[in-house]
Amino acid sequence: MNYKIPVKEFLDQSKNGNIDYQDFTQKFFEELKKINKKYNYLITTAKPEKNKPKENLSGLPISVKDNICTKNLRSTAGSGILENYIPVFDATSVERIKTQNGLIIGKTAMDEFGFGTFSTNCAFGTPKNPYDKNRSCGGSSGGAAGLTAALEYPHIALAESTGGSISCPASFCGVVGLTPTYGLVSRYGLIDYANSLDKIGCIGKCVWDVALLLSIIAGYDSRDSTSLNEKSIDYIKDIEDRLKKVKIGIPKEYFKNIDKQVEKVAWQAIKKLEDNGFDYKEFSLPTTKFALSSYYIIACAEASTNLAKFCGLRYGLHEKLEGNFNEYFSKIRTKGFGEEAKRRIILGTFARMAGYREKYYLQALKVRTLIINEFKKAFRKFDCIIAPTMPILPPLFSDIKKLSPLENYQCDVLTVPANLAGIPHLSIPCGFAFDRSVKLPVGLHVLGNYLQEERLLQIGNTVEKILNLNISKTKY
Ligand code: GLN
Repeated sequence: MNYKIPVKEFLDQSKNGNIDYQDFTQKFFEELKKINKKYNYLITTAKPEKNKPKENLSGLPISVKDNICTKNLRSTAGSGILENYIPVFDATSVERIKTQNGLIIGKTAMDEFGFGTFSTNCAFGTPKNPYDKNRSCGGSSGGAAGLTAALEYPHIALAESTGGSISCPASFCGVVGLTPTYGLVSRYGLIDYANSLDKIGCIGKCVWDVALLLSIIAGYDSRDSTSLNEKSIDYIKDIEDRLKKVKIGIPKEYFKNIDKQVEKVAWQAIKKLEDNGFDYKEFSLPTTKFALSSYYIIACAEASTNLAKFCGLRYGLHEKLEGNFNEYFSKIRTKGFGEEAKRRIILGTFARMAGYREKYYLQALKVRTLIINEFKKAFRKFDCIIAPTMPILPPLFSDIKKLSPLENYQCDVLTVPANLAGIPHLSIPCGFAFDRSVKLPVGLHVLGNYLQEERLLQIGNTVEKILNLNISKTKY
């Protein structure tokens, strides 16, 4: 049997008893090995399960970003300091996937603790873009998006975003990324980057796939103090509902200083939506220009406190205790952390210092509130906001090397506002552009109001149908 089928078909075939599970998993893992050798998407591969799983997900392959804890399966968060960390428990999202008989296939490559936009800050090698091996998959969930694009077998990725780590790689790899409302999916078992920003979400080949995974992982969890008191909904049940006139807002600021080709492809998509009954209007989100500085102050401040626990005593890397604590602590952290982690510890510690706290950190929190209010106001008028996901096409590794840290951070300009606000957003492939005659995908960002995932996914599903790119048939 040909197992190179979409997720939906796999589930239908399983239900009808047409999948030989042993044969499927064997072929799947062979393919996974081949792809991984070529593109480096997994840090750790799980062992194939022998037993035939029952109902629900029927052994559907699910990859897990490496900062989400998996019981008895190494979870490094892309960092050398956690090289040998094997959790004794599952994150809530993983536990829910297992309860529904999903098959955890391995842990995907990422920037160390999520610090990056290109997955080039990973201690265990860099994942490569399936459209061009000399280019980045995006980050920090680069392995998750690359694997989703490259695998022709049914698969969905569990990923995570702090400031754009789901949308960015989804856009660069031509797949769909869903970042839910902050608090809708439990963070229990997530290795924190910045607690007030981190969100577990999904990456799939199409909107249907991410809606399916969200239905499994969403909903209240008493083990996460910021978990919202929401029930999990079946997000695929009404996903095909035909929508009458969708009102979309196009924020002018999101089209400033972006790559000309990205701008062109995004506008072509918007016009096509208009031809199919969507109503669009341009409007302004003036605080956009402050979002990036606000984000990096808050994210680094939180990261610097979170990383304090990696001191060579409790988790991961440790050596013989010699010298006083400060000497030992410094030795382990010098060895275990990469350059970007060290940079963020210093930046974050600085921003929290007495005297600077008011000047930077509290100021950044005020900007965050302004951004939230601006989005809330916009959603009184619009069903969703649409813009390009990333301001650039997937860059070459050789060009990334030339970027200063600041230029690196500036690439997140379009993804951080929605992440700071904690509103749900989807990145959907909307077309292609060419760079040095290589065909590269462009992502369209669809932002929705708080807890409007159901509507957002319906809109996304409609957008996907109208644009009709048939990404899942792409051959590399
Ligand atoms: N690029 C952003 C950062 O480095 C966002 C990454 C993320 O969402 N984890 O912080």
